[in-house]
This record gives sequence, C-alpha cells and structure tokens, in this order.
Amino acid sequence: MICGDGGDLKCPANSNQDNGLEVYGRFLETVAEFRHLESLPVSIKFIINAETFLRNEAKWHKTCHLKFAPSKLLRLQKRKQSLEPGSTATEEIKATADI
Ligand SMILES: [Zn+2]
Repeated sequence: MICGDGGDLKCPANSNQDNGLEVYGRFLETVAEFRHLESLPVSIKFIINAETFLRNEAKWHKTCHLKFAPSKLLRLQKRKQSLEPGSTATEEIKATADI
C-alpha cells in the first residue's frame, strides 16, 4: 500500500490489540513530519486521512512501516537541525575560520 509492491501486508484495522484509527492517525502524523523534512523514505503521493485508511482497511508492509518509525524521524530532525544555519555546528566552523 505504501510502496505498491506485493508481499506480506499488515493491516492495522484487523489487529485487535490496537485501535485501527489511532494506528493510522499516528502513522499519518509521522508521514507528515517526514514530508515536512523532505525526507520521505518511500515516495508517497497520496494525501489521505485516517478515516479513509480505516474505511479501506489500508495495509502496509511491515518493512515499509518500519521506515516511518518515530525513532527514525527523531534522528532526521536532529540531523536537519545541525545542518541549519545558525546552529551550534555552523557557529563552531565560523569561529575556527576567523582565526
Ligand atoms: Zn511496501
């Protein structure tokens, strides 16, 4: 569903330990953050909401879903921060260049 490939798909709507809508909602929030950072691990063309996901019983590969893990997002955000001008890393480089 994410990448469009076949294979073993996981459907959160069918899992009984989690609320499907919640799972989809959390996933879409993460996707939005990845998009904001322009660092989507898988190109996603759809803009969709959790309700639509649930209605269609959207599925994803476990491997694809793992690419959107919150821990990966955190790492990306940190990397992006250190690349932005005005960050500590840049200040250090400037200071060295002045000497
Ligand atoms: Zn996939």
